[in-house]
Formats: sequence, C-alpha cells, structure tokens
Amino acid sequence: MGKSSKDKRDLYYRKAKEQGYRARSAFKLLQLDEQFHFLDNVTRVVDLCAAPGSWSQVLSRRLFVDNPQNKESKRIVAVDLQPMFPIDHVTTIQADITHPKTLNKIMDLFEGEKADFVCSDGAPDVTGLHDLDEYVQQQLILSALQLTTCLLREGGVFVAKIFRGRDIDMLYSQLSFLFEKVVCAKPKSSRGTSLESFVVCIGYKPPTNWKPQLDVNMSVEDFFQGCEIGRLCLEDKLPEYHEEPRSIAEFISCGGLDSFDADATYHDVPADSTALDPVQPPTNPPYKRALELKRKGKLTRTTYV
Ligand code: SAM
Repeated sequence: MGKSSKDKRDLYYRKAKEQGYRARSAFKLLQLDEQFHFLDNVTRVVDLCAAPGSWSQVLSRRLFVDNPQNKESKRIVAVDLQPMFPIDHVTTIQADITHPKTLNKIMDLFEGEKADFVCSDGAPDVTGLHDLDEYVQQQLILSALQLTTCLLREGGVFVAKIFRGRDIDMLYSQLSFLFEKVVCAKPKSSRGTSLESFVVCIGYKPPTNWKPQLDVNMSVEDFFQGCEIGRLCLEDKLPEYHEEPRSIAEFISCGGLDSFDADATYHDVPADSTALDPVQPPTNPPYKRALELKRKGKLTRTTYV
C-alpha cells in the first residue's frame, strides 16, 4: 500500500490514528451510540469478536473515562479468536464465540450477574464463495445471538453487524420475537458500497416459558421453538400455501449531518504531514510468516509443471 493509496487518505482511517483508536471501526460504534445512546447507563458489557479492539477502546472510554463513577461495579469483557493487546479496564478472552465453553468463561467473569449490553462486530475470513461466506456469517450472528440470550438482562441491548443479503428480513422477524424494538442502522463511517449494517436490538424481552439454549448445531427453527417462528401465516386458509412471516426493520442512517462520509478521502496527503504509526500493530497476522520468509530470502514461488 503506497503512502497516498486510498486507504491512507481515508478520513476515518487517519482520524482513528489521531484519536488513538486501533481501527476505523471505532467510529461505527461511536456513531451508533450517538443515535441510540445505548452506552449511557451501562455497567457490564460484552464485546464479541473484538480484535484488534477499537470497539473495546470506545467502551472503555465511555464507561471509565467519560463516566468514572462506580468503577468497581463496571466490567467489560472482550472475546476474539485472535489474541488482543491489553486495553485499560477490559478483560480479554481468546476464544471462539461458537464454542459452548466460551459462554461459561464470560459468565464466570460476571460472577452470576447479567450484562446490560452485548455487541458483536464479527466477520469471518471471506473465501469469495458467496453462498459459503453468507452461511458462515449467518452462523456467527446466530452464535452471537445465542450467547446474548444467555448473557443479557431483560431490557438490555444487543448490537450486531449484519450483511443485508437476500433473507435478512427473516433475521429481523426472529430478533423481533426477542426484543421490543429492532432497527437496522448504517453508520456514516460504514462504506456505502458495502452491504454492512448493524441491527440495534433494544429491550431484551424473551417470551415467557422460552429458555435460551447454546448449541451451534441447533437449527434456527429449534432455537426459536415456542416463539412461533416459522409459523405458516396462511396455513389455515390455504393448507398448501407456505409462507414464513417476515418483517421489515426500520432503517436509520446515523452519524449526524456533520459526520464525514465513509468514502471521503483527503484529496492528497499534504507533503508536510507526518505519517502516524499504527496505534497497535496486529498481534499475529496471517501474513507474518510470509514476511519472515521474505526477509530471509526464502519466500519462493511454487511452480507446477
Ligand atoms: N470490532 C473490532 C474492532 O473494532 O477492533 C473489529 C472486529 S473484526 C471486523 C472481526 C473479528 O471477528 C476478527 O477479529 C475475527 O477474529 C473475529 N471472529 C471471527 N469469527 C470469530 C469467532 N468464531 N469467534 C471469535 N471471534 C471471531
């Protein structure tokens, strides 16, 4: 990547470095919170799929710097497959959110208390095979939701990254059975060209007699059993007609009129500007070995005959 490449001229990329955030995605959480104020009075929060940690940095600043009272009762737990460099006031767990043991690890840290807020910015490594990528992303959202249903207190808030694909309305319907209000929000710092958005689910209110369960092998229908998900709406009148109930979530663009557009770039990096170092270099990037081999002159291209 050259010094004046589009990424380096990207406004949010540079602002993140200036403000000490590890990634530009910090602004997505900040802009969502600016709209919904879900971080105003929270004490215990969980950040799923948290590395490199810019959302955890936002949470740490909001809970401990902006509102320094009652520090002893506050707790932030961040989970990711990747190791994370420490962040003030954040307990990090290196674990897979689809693994059942991860729930116990988080619950142990909360010592029996429930969380007020759970967020997930999870994204799997993309393979380029769209059906597979969409499936893995859906699994990640379902795992985050399953964890959330076991961790969140009634009335709590869940925020998760989604990709607005073909069947996203089905997810809105499912979430609507568990939360009082479900909104699809697009922060200004999220690129307009990307299908990325965030579901902001306010007021956790599981149906009476419904027990949250954690099992990634469970089908969505089984997970929502008793919530009337998958109910056939015209079944009584037309037995052979099959249609699942779907809903459209309200869509909100957030970030305020004075926020920059996600695709805004500096026209040219001024000649006298100094390049800032990364706030936190990656802990164990997949390309690390390739760089080591290259340095030793051992990175060779395999030729097939
Ligand atoms: N919110 C983060 C921030 O602001 O720094 C960025 C998150 S990044 C877009 C997505 C993360 O999801 C990656 O760090 C990846 O390791 C994590 N992830 C993907 N699948 C996961 C899984 N099954 N369990 C835990 N983390 C996972």
